[in-house]
Amino acid sequence: MDNARLAAAAGAVRDAGLDALLVGPSADLRYLIGYDAHAMERLTLLVLTADGHAHLILPELEAPAARASGAAELVELVPWAETEDPIAVVHRLLTRPGPPGAVAVSDRLYSVFTLRLQAALPGTAFRPSGPVLGPLRIIKSPSEQQALRAAGTAIDAVHAAVPELLRPGRTEAEVGRELSELILAEHDEVAFVIVGSGPNGASPHHAVSDRVLEPGDAVVVDIGGVRDGYCSDMTRNYAVGTLPAGYAELHAVLAVAQEAAVRAVAPGAIPSEIDRAARDVIAEAGHGERFIHRTGHGIGIEVHEDPYIVATNTTPVAAGMAFSIEPGIYLPGRFGMRIEDIVLVTDTGVERINHRPREVLVAG
Ligand code: ZN
Ligand code: ZN
Ligand code: ZN
Repeated sequence: MDNARLAAAAGAVRDAGLDALLVGPSADLRYLIGYDAHAMERLTLLVLTADGHAHLILPELEAPAARASGAAELVELVPWAETEDPIAVVHRLLTRPGPPGAVAVSDRLYSVFTLRLQAALPGTAFRPSGPVLGPLRIIKSPSEQQALRAAGTAIDAVHAAVPELLRPGRTEAEVGRELSELILAEHDEVAFVIVGSGPNGASPHHAVSDRVLEPGDAVVVDIGGVRDGYCSDMTRNYAVGTLPAGYAELHAVLAVAQEAAVRAVAPGAIPSEIDRAARDVIAEAGHGERFIHRTGHGIGIEVHEDPYIVATNTTPVAAGMAFSIEPGIYLPGRFGMRIEDIVLVTDTGVERINHRPREVLVAG
């Protein structure tokens, strides 16, 4: 990692009229300096001032890990000893010429630290870091796009193995454990595993349970991992033995809705309209009120990040953005279904990075 991201962030700090950007352990910190710090009661804080100087205030005992990450080549480490007050260290750094007028604080910094910093800098305005770092992170560089494609290929390979795992008599948890192993074989980390069988499929963020798979169950499998720092996230629908009554017709509607939303993606497309492309198809079929979430979310070093493909987002998408298209239909007490692919906005249109068949696959 070079310091191009820090330099761009310092430029954004200046453009926003801020004196400094304060970033705690988070995806933002990983993005800027490649250091995956622990979020905990001891303060770790990147202080990036408008002039481009970067200091990493961190507990002394974390310094070896920070050095091992390579962060020391990008920032000056400022370790604080166990009995020192780290807020005083930050205060000294920030007030060298005089107290700062305004600083941005990362969205994920523990509020206990933000509150102490505010108390130490009573004349300083505190702003959220989202508007500063968001525009940098939302556009994926060619190498980030390549990492997302590789993660997409990895999760495609895991889904290819799902039909063999969904046998009657097994529990969702047993299937989930095997899925975790398969995800790890293709990724560095498991991000999440959802095996929603029968009525559990109607809860979009159900994880796994001890429910035993039965013939005639519909099963939503939504899985993701992290590979070289970038996330995968993909949903397909399966059935054990036979499809439940009424399922095939609904799944056909869902597939049309998902395709319509993918086709609506292009540089300049409005997220609310991409969302509506999927929602209109499901509403016309009479199930609009059973599509209970947004159509998609951005993805990168976090599973959920900007841009959100939702009716309230009217900021056009641009080449280099990556997000999910994942409409779903949920019938409480019966079953649910969701088809999810990650797409990249290209200079001319859209590229899907998941390629497994989208029809429901009958297993078991
Ligand atoms: Zn989700
Ligand atoms: Zn998902
Ligand atoms: Zn998703």
